[in-house]
Amino acid sequence: MSNKLAFIMLDGLQYKTAVEQMGYLGHLVEQKKAARYLVKSEVPSMSRPLYEVLLTGTLPHKNGILTNQTVRLSKEESLFHLTKKNGLTNATASYYWVSELYNKAPFVQLTDRFQNDENRTIQHGIFYSEDHYPDSHLFADAHYLMETYQPDFLYVHSMNIDDTGHKYTADSKEYRGSAIRADIILANILPQWIENGYQIIITADHGMNDDGDHGGTLNDVRDVPLLVISDKVRPDDYDQVVRQLNLAPLACHLLGISPSKEMIKVELPGLLNQ
Ligand SMILES: [Zn+2]
Repeated sequence: MSNKLAFIMLDGLQYKTAVEQMGYLGHLVEQKKAARYLVKSEVPSMSRPLYEVLLTGTLPHKNGILTNQTVRLSKEESLFHLTKKNGLTNATASYYWVSELYNKAPFVQLTDRFQNDENRTIQHGIFYSEDHYPDSHLFADAHYLMETYQPDFLYVHSMNIDDTGHKYTADSKEYRGSAIRADIILANILPQWIENGYQIIITADHGMNDDGDHGGTLNDVRDVPLLVISDKVRPDDYDQVVRQLNLAPLACHLLGISPSKEMIKVELPGLLNQ
């Protein structure tokens, strides 16, 4: 494996559903190919605030992204900023809020879908703006970015699990089914990405409750999975709870770059060579 990293964020995927429904990921854990953890998300367990937590390693009260309606560029140093600063190439296939946080705000649907400019914070971006944009297409967008630009850091952000949870609740065959479909997509694509030399992170921003919502402080909306496939992390099924603030500095460690001065020192069982 190289220092390249594909960071996959499955929006709205609760820990319990990931463990119970995603058999390909479960196979990787059982066969000691992946490390799995339970991450406790920060609160509010809302999307845009937690995108900022995941990508900058800072808390909402510090970074000011406190609601989904906070439409402005981030003032923090994100993984996109850090990779670019270190001379690495970054790319993302993501929901448009990621563009609004790190490249351009507000998002203009007609012109901002494809963004290629190596001078910008996000160098290669493909953005969607419909919550039902199919995960299959999203992962194909990400694969295109990988094949075309060979980015050192590729951030992949799907939305169908969250969208389905809002429509049918977390306790529904539809929500569980959307997790199974994401697992199948991963089974089709990850072996090739790993073969391409990429380390893999899979996690979520927040979970989902049985009202079809999230935002609060209970386990169903705060407990999310983290899987890591890397020769820098010893594979196992860990039972220690991991703070979500660890994700950004963990990504830096895997990429071989220094974290920002705002990020915490990574606390992750099984992390090697720190
Ligand atoms: Zn949501």
